[in-house]
Amino acid sequence: MHNKNTMVDFQLRRNRLRELLKEQDCTAMLVTNASNVRYLTGFSGHDSYLLVSRDDEVLISDPRYEQQIGEQCQGLATWIRQPGEMTWDVVGVQLNLRHLSDLVIESSSLPVAIYDKLMEKARIGKIEKGKVQVEQLREIKDADEIALIRRAIDLAQRVFSSLRATIAVDQTEIEVANEIHRLTRLLGGDDCSFKPIVAVGPRAALPHAEPGATRIGASSFVLIDWGAIYQGYCSDLTRVLMNSTILPKFSDIYQAVLSAQRAAIDAIKPGVSCGEVDAVARSVFTASGLDSYFTHGLGHGIGLDIHEAPRLGKNQDRKLEAGMVVTVEPGLYFPQFGGVRIEDDVLVTPNGCELLSSLPADLESNQVEFLS
Ligand code: ZN
Ligand code: ZN
Repeated sequence: MHNKNTMVDFQLRRNRLRELLKEQDCTAMLVTNASNVRYLTGFSGHDSYLLVSRDDEVLISDPRYEQQIGEQCQGLATWIRQPGEMTWDVVGVQLNLRHLSDLVIESSSLPVAIYDKLMEKARIGKIEKGKVQVEQLREIKDADEIALIRRAIDLAQRVFSSLRATIAVDQTEIEVANEIHRLTRLLGGDDCSFKPIVAVGPRAALPHAEPGATRIGASSFVLIDWGAIYQGYCSDLTRVLMNSTILPKFSDIYQAVLSAQRAAIDAIKPGVSCGEVDAVARSVFTASGLDSYFTHGLGHGIGLDIHEAPRLGKNQDRKLEAGMVVTVEPGLYFPQFGGVRIEDDVLVTPNGCELLSSLPADLESNQVEFLS
């Protein structure tokens, strides 16, 4: 049984896409990115394309998904190709039926091989690559999406609380990562929103460390970056757990990252650019001569995808707007020594922002004695 999406007004989202098409003088769009198809229809499967024209729409899929589409997309016009028919043939037929003068395609999700085949079939006056983007709509979350992101965050936080109560010195990074997977599903998540990062001691100097055979007890701290998916929507958090033997150098680094993160969150409000927020965090590090150890952007949007627009990073002049949900995740990384990253999820509100995640980030609250 699939989630029925009964509360969400997908037609409204498709009509907003039509407005964008109209603004750009475009007639129709072929949506091939699976997250964009889901956003516009509620359909959570793959290999299915949504054709949106000025006055109608059709979801083109295959027999595997017929029942699921019936459950998830009530009232949506669908065209299920027959076994033996090729998707691009069917899409070509649907395009030609509409005599389109132009068509917007999503060049980042339509493979060249399929594009070429499609162009053999379809008679379209003009192809526009990426002139209209569904991602533009997805940047601003509606109330239904914000509710689901809250659930995804709550779920991830419960996973962490359970994990933290049982984390033991003889567990390896891989075992902890597997435990995150297990708890996420046990507590009702669709899945983890990405492969969890569990990095013990010096391995935390790698911002994207792959969990390995290192045991928790090998160091006095472990960095955990994890997230959950709830009904398609992602959360993304990072905490560092430390025992009482951490070095003063480490707690200094920790406090610097926490100060940068809190300053950046305080700066988030509509009208401020993504680059300005990034610069706030960077300036905290510059003040203590640490800025060269902050080697990535400050954060990213979350939603149906774990990384989506907008990006909080250097020179990003996109201005924040109410309804955006972004991560704020400054970090400092020292080869051979380790690293600290603290990541929370933030909703931009009309007057400022709301910190959606609520796990304490202060150093004392993240000190634990790992079980022996
Ligand atoms: Zn993360
Ligand atoms: Zn992140």
